[in-house]
Amino acid sequence: MSVLVMKFGGTSVANIDRIRRAAKRVGLEVAKGHDVIVIVSAMAGKTNELVGWVNEISPLHDAREYDAVVSSGENVTAGLMALVLQEMEIPARSWQGWQVPLLTNSAHSAARIEEIPTDNITAKFAEGMRVAVVAGFQGLSPEGRITTLGRGGSDTTAVAFAAAFDAVRCDIYTDVDGVYTTDPRIASRARKLDRIAFEEMLELASLGAKVLQTRSVELAMRYNVRLRVLSSFEEPSDEAGTLVCAEEDIMESNVVSGIAYSRDEAKMTLVSVADRPGIAAAIFGPLAEAGVNVDMIIQNIAEEGRTDMTFSCPTDQVKRAEKALSDARAAGAINYHDLIADTDVAKVSAVGIGMRSQSGVAAKMFKTLSDEGINIKVIATSEIKISVLIDRKYMELAVQALHDAFGLDKAA
Ligand code: ASP
Ligand code: MG
Repeated sequence: MSVLVMKFGGTSVANIDRIRRAAKRVGLEVAKGHDVIVIVSAMAGKTNELVGWVNEISPLHDAREYDAVVSSGENVTAGLMALVLQEMEIPARSWQGWQVPLLTNSAHSAARIEEIPTDNITAKFAEGMRVAVVAGFQGLSPEGRITTLGRGGSDTTAVAFAAAFDAVRCDIYTDVDGVYTTDPRIASRARKLDRIAFEEMLELASLGAKVLQTRSVELAMRYNVRLRVLSSFEEPSDEAGTLVCAEEDIMESNVVSGIAYSRDEAKMTLVSVADRPGIAAAIFGPLAEAGVNVDMIIQNIAEEGRTDMTFSCPTDQVKRAEKALSDARAAGAINYHDLIADTDVAKVSAVGIGMRSQSGVAAKMFKTLSDEGINIKVIATSEIKISVLIDRKYMELAVQALHDAFGLDKAA
């Protein structure tokens, strides 16, 4: 029997009507002969409400009770979905994480999946059950407590089930109809991609395209799970959505697949630090300990034994970074003349696996920005990505210009 995993996000199960609509999709797949594992999120807005209640009682709450409360939204939608399917005369039942059991470690509110034994659900399929509706986002710790996988974690539940059951595909139903070449709200000519490679999706996900939890893409890549992102509001079709898949499964693609951006970047410059062995470690060690996610780094040429060091981090971590650095200075670990935070910057990135085999992408990117009169403040590259920091007021312009320059409105 072939197993298909279908995951429905919060907007797709936001009320009974929508649960019925999602169940119809499940029915279509059952009719094709699949045994289906449905992973559900909580109704849209529910998890935020639960988190709010917990924080209202205590910001320093017991993480185990946080998980007990916050995981409950998914229990409701799992039961409701099973009921709707039963009304449609499809043999279905719900499973909470502990019943499967989906085993995790003990890292409450950010637990990692350790194992999903398949025997319980497989036995039910053998008895004639056609749909297992599983509450996403939750699992069971070795101590026997309920855990959650971090916000957006039901994507990861879905991919983990697809891997464990060797599913033919993992369909992620959401409120957008796929992955786009860039944000359509910024570039009206943004185009939906038919396929995108795991690695590109990872870059785009961490760059702010919020369609999939990053960990779910990592997991899909590791286990080669074919992952499809599609809208539950569009008519069903085999071509719908975007397939996130291995590079080998993509015949033709543009050199650049997408332009990502992030508004919430800050550029921090340490002015005149001593240029000596160990200085980078002395700066970035304390930042790491303070939980600052440093992204780009540049060290300038030294003059008379002193240099400037610039790095970028999320805007909401600027205060933390400033404190970590001034503490390190007070402790005598580093010394610098000044620390300048520029919070009016944005990061724009071009992403594409084609960059590995084609040169000139960076040059084209810089030329495009220069033609628009946009100054580049920091540059960082990886094998499949080029990122620049620019003034935030030019962000939209940069995204549009790069989208045009790399011809992303047309398929390869
Ligand atoms: N309901 C959880 C959240 O909002 C998990 C999920 O929907 O993926 O984060
Ligand atoms: Mg989500």
